[in-house]
Amino acid sequence: MSEIKSKDICAAFWTTVPGRESFYSCTICKIVRKQGPRSYANLLDHLEDKHPDYKEVYLKQLEDNSDGAISKIYGATSKAKNIHSWIRQVVY
Ligand SMILES: [Zn+2]
Repeated sequence: MSEIKSKDICAAFWTTVPGRESFYSCTICKIVRKQGPRSYANLLDHLEDKHPDYKEVYLKQLEDNSDGAISKIYGATSKAKNIHSWIRQVVY
């Protein structure tokens, strides 16, 4: 599992505030916070403090989004294995 990037976390939980540069709105509780220059610390602090399960929520979102693709890949692999073992039984 690759490390979760701060940038991706913030993109998932913060949206820009129209007309207010460097301000972002939390998608969970709608609070507005200012993002420091080149740093996500202020935004991440809020998530850590108010939504301590945000990493879980984020990973769950990723799972849900890619569920179809993973099922397809897994299903194909599993089917291929079954066919392979069936062929082996018949041939040998
Ligand atoms: Zn919040």
